[in-house]
Amino acid sequence: MNCECSSCVLGRKIDAALTSGTREELAGIVETLHNDLGHAQEDLGHLSAILDGSWPSAVEELSAALSVAVVKRRDAAVR
Ligand SMILES: [Zn+2]
Repeated sequence: MNCECSSCVLGRKIDAALTSGTREELAGIVETLHNDLGHAQEDLGHLSAILDGSWPSAVEELSAALSVAVVKRRDAAVR
């Protein structure tokens, strides 16, 4: 049974496109990868700005994340 995560699904599409070699399939994959990269870069920029304190709501977001992390680490220590 094949893994259905987005990375594995895309990997199978890439393998199929490389085998078939159609330009349209390859162009579609390149476009998908380009879009995914753009979203990942936006997420990275956003999260980096929160972590370095330059995002306007950084203090609130970091405080909320810290509260969640404290509970997770406490729960992990109990197990
Ligand atoms: Zn997978």
